[in-house]
Amino acid sequence: MTIKNKLRAGISFLFLLAIICCGLSIFYVNRLSDDEKNILKDNYQSVQYTKNICVAVDAIHDGLSTPQFKVIEENIAAEERDITEPGEAQLTDSLRSKFETLKRTESNAPNVAELHLAIRKLSFGIMQLNMTAIEHKYAAATNSAKSATIILAFVGSFLFLIAFSFVVNFPGYIANPIKELTERIKEVSNRNYHQQLNFKSNDEFGELGHAFNTMTRKLDEYEHSNLASILFEKKRIETIINSMHDAIIGLDEKSFIIFANEVACTLIGLPEQSLTGKYAPDVAVENDLLRNLLVNDQHKMKIFADNRESYYAKEVLPVTSKDKVIGKVIILNNITEFQQLNDAKTNFIATISHELKTPISSIKMSLKLLEDKRIGEMNTEQQQLLENIDEDAARLLQITGELLDMAQVETGKLELNFGSTHPINIVDYAVKALKTTAEQKHVTLNVECDEHLPDVHADLDKTTWVLINLLSNAIKYSHEKSVVDLVVKIYKADEIEFSVQDHGKGIDARYLPRIFERYFKVPGASMEQTGTGLGLAIAKDFIEAQAGKIGVESEVGEGSRFYFTLKRVGN
Ligand code: ADP
Repeated sequence: MTIKNKLRAGISFLFLLAIICCGLSIFYVNRLSDDEKNILKDNYQSVQYTKNICVAVDAIHDGLSTPQFKVIEENIAAEERDITEPGEAQLTDSLRSKFETLKRTESNAPNVAELHLAIRKLSFGIMQLNMTAIEHKYAAATNSAKSATIILAFVGSFLFLIAFSFVVNFPGYIANPIKELTERIKEVSNRNYHQQLNFKSNDEFGELGHAFNTMTRKLDEYEHSNLASILFEKKRIETIINSMHDAIIGLDEKSFIIFANEVACTLIGLPEQSLTGKYAPDVAVENDLLRNLLVNDQHKMKIFADNRESYYAKEVLPVTSKDKVIGKVIILNNITEFQQLNDAKTNFIATISHELKTPISSIKMSLKLLEDKRIGEMNTEQQQLLENIDEDAARLLQITGELLDMAQVETGKLELNFGSTHPINIVDYAVKALKTTAEQKHVTLNVECDEHLPDVHADLDKTTWVLINLLSNAIKYSHEKSVVDLVVKIYKADEIEFSVQDHGKGIDARYLPRIFERYFKVPGASMEQTGTGLGLAIAKDFIEAQAGKIGVESEVGEGSRFYFTLKRVGN
């Protein structure tokens, strides 16, 4: 039976009990009322009639006969209509015959007194009969009232017990399964899926229990299959991370270490248990490498671990989820092999450049001697050839010089001779060096350098080299008969800015981010124009080594502006 029908049946049953109780009460009250009415109707009125007859007979005795006869007549007639008790009819008949006799008898006849007495006796007899009946009926009514009380009390108690057990048990019947279900749902929310409901009934609770048990079973299966696959994937990722040659450290958004692979543990010099789950800054207090990894922006790092020196490139990757940073991964890429190759290349370049410098210088020297007219006159063609060789030798010398500088920078052997110098000195050197080149191309050098500018803190040779390089490029990439502006001015209060602006072909915006890279040359330039692609890269190293900044602004067809800054003296 469904709960709905059970509820209906329960409430109907209670109503039925209440109706039974009321019906019984009404029945017994009616019965008592009927008994009372019967006593009144059957007997009490007969007593009243006979009493009236007696009173009237006594009155005859006093001499007033006619009205009394009327009273007696009426009461005997009423009594004749109200015969209810056994024997009452005979007594009433006798009363009637005595009264009829009395009516025919003269009032002074000798038997009148006797008749009076007989009427009185008969009336009294009827009265006695009815009084006895009243007593009997009263006793019977009292008895039935008592038994009604007992029956009603019994039925009432019985109904109360049923209603009480219904009131006590029925809420539990509804509430207990709901309570149990609530408890189980709480357990399920705590991921405890081994939950079963034992609702055996065939009602909605039974169905609910069955559905709940199916749900927990499915959840359990899902959880297990999910957990197993998650654990498997986790193991796979851990294995991949551990088998990598790069050191990998994962941090959460609060800088707690989530994982560190074997290479990272070896480099840091701590076992995995001492890292995983620890607050990284706490570990870094006693670990130099981790401190460097967390604090330093350094890209390339030299690390001594496992009894050897290795080079690592650091990369920090932020981990984001739904536009929110949830951690970061620090990767140390082992670049020792590349570094060794690079070192070998740099050494090779340095040796070759150095070795080439001497023969090129002697070629230049020999060319100078050849130009001397005392050795002998040359025809125009020979003269032209000599000039070409001289130009190529100069280019070779410049290239070897740049390669040497670059090797110096790369091997970290860059030595700076800092001193205080006025910007005008740097400008003069550079302008003098490029005067002829500019004149050959009819390019005007506009110099703007106030002599009241403060001194700069710089390496005079290296800075002049940079400015020459920028001016040389500006002239090289300018159109003939154009202007190159060299402006020196105060920048940001504590810095001096040197800027070289040309009005040449300019540089495409997409190449600007790579312009200071080693060996980078803007595609499309003619062979005569381009050099090694090292000039700007070396310039950047020279300026940054002096705590300055170097940059470029350019627009195709409009020209380029290269600038660098240096610290002014006194700051
Ligand atoms: P290079 O020896 O080839 O001139 P640089 O490092 O000095 O090497 O310059 C790199 C490249 O930048 C050049 O090949 C050239 O394409 C471009 N470049 C440099 N300066 C200028 C300039 N003022 N105008 C246009 N292009 C320039």
